[in-house]
Amino acid sequence: SYFTELGLAEPILRALGAKGYADPTPIQRQSIPALLEGRDLLGIAQTGTGKTAAFSLPSLHRLAADPKPVKPASCRMLVLSPTRELAAQIAENMKGYAKFLKIQIECVFGGVPVGKQARRLSTGVDVLVATPGRLLDLIDQRALTLRNVEIFVLDEADQMMDLGFIKPLTRVAALLPSDRQSLFFSATMPQAIADLGRRFINDPVRVEV
Ligand code: AMP
Repeated sequence: SYFTELGLAEPILRALGAKGYADPTPIQRQSIPALLEGRDLLGIAQTGTGKTAAFSLPSLHRLAADPKPVKPASCRMLVLSPTRELAAQIAENMKGYAKFLKIQIECVFGGVPVGKQARRLSTGVDVLVATPGRLLDLIDQRALTLRNVEIFVLDEADQMMDLGFIKPLTRVAALLPSDRQSLFFSATMPQAIADLGRRFINDPVRVEV
């Protein structure tokens, strides 16, 4: 398939085969090569376009290509999502794509006890999918540090703004290491969202589907 031509690692291609994906969607075709090179991305795309695989596949490829022991209470990739439903869905999809890789993926969100989540993070994870409020709770409890984040994904930026997450996101931005890859997705890109994006991404490839 065309996924092979994109240069994705064999265990990822195998997972895509198991899922029955034959060819990449337009957003996947347009973003995967740049993301594999480590570029930042500004993506204007709705749910249903295949954007989860667009950011997950090259990120999993890069993490697997540079294996590192995870550090306690830290993650190598952070994905922020506005709602628990979306966060859980992203984590579920990523686990499928990482099925044949040694990559640990966890998901944390509010509305459930924080203690169990803190314990799951104590030995560190490769990928953490989180909602902003619970992420900051865990950081404030010293259950998590963002100092080892190599890849940062902000999904559904316009929903984040509608739900009042600008302040928490500004705090997260300040805690991320500056040497990282950043991906910023929104269904719409009004000025306020573009301004928010500028705080996270650096010289991005722009993809609109
Ligand atoms: P998303 O926009 O990431 O929520 O994806 C929407 C749906 O499309 C999900 O159910 C995915 O499993 C599916 N999907 C994503 N990429 C592909 C692909 N290349 N081929 C077939 N299905 C896909």
